[in-house]
Amino acid sequence: MCETCGCGTANQHQHKHEHEHGRTKTVTLEEKVLAHNDALADRNRAWLADRGVVAINLISAPGSGKTYLLEKTLEALDGKIKCAVITGDQQTDRDAERLRGKGAPIHQIETISSCHLDAHQVFHALENVIEDDTKLLFIENVGNLVCPTAFDLGESFKVALLSTPEGEDKPIKYPVLFATAKAIVLTKMDLAEPLDWDLSACRGYIQRVQPGANVIELSAKSGDGMAAWLTYLERLVQ
Ligand code: MG
Repeated sequence: MCETCGCGTANQHQHKHEHEHGRTKTVTLEEKVLAHNDALADRNRAWLADRGVVAINLISAPGSGKTYLLEKTLEALDGKIKCAVITGDQQTDRDAERLRGKGAPIHQIETISSCHLDAHQVFHALENVIEDDTKLLFIENVGNLVCPTAFDLGESFKVALLSTPEGEDKPIKYPVLFATAKAIVLTKMDLAEPLDWDLSACRGYIQRVQPGANVIELSAKSGDGMAAWLTYLERLVQ
């Protein structure tokens, strides 16, 4: 396990280190942790499939606007598509408070020492938010571009967010997420111009890690691009 964050993600170095010293017990334990998570994730996926729920695992750096996008999304979909939200942070229920009262059941997970959600946490949250007519589940992961990517939660797929203040080149610095996300949402586009943020450069970096990626540009604040995002979501549940 990663000694810094306690997660099983950033472990390739440690894998190598442990092998070099012949300490294979640690590696075996780590593999068991991930295998256990994968088994629970499969159970979550089957549980959601039985109920016809599409589950989106939202992953990004902290501050990219996941919660704000969800606020605006829930407001727009209220009365159209029955949604539910599981939201994760290390501490506090501030995000759950922001998302409440917008037509969707909300469940906050505080991960305390962990930098990502895991399938076991999500399993216990599912029955608190999924109702008979739920069609769309948003799982807002802990803000982190690395660790959440390695832990399958049983979602249908991942969606990555990248905000303009983060710069253009995160997709090539953290390629695993951006290579595997089914959609990549570029947020805070209203700040692109004042920040001299280069859209074509960013799209080029995305193209390098995932040719043909589905990229949606929007500003949840101004509303520009929200229609394309909402149409994308609506098509998922048709
Ligand atoms: Mg948040």
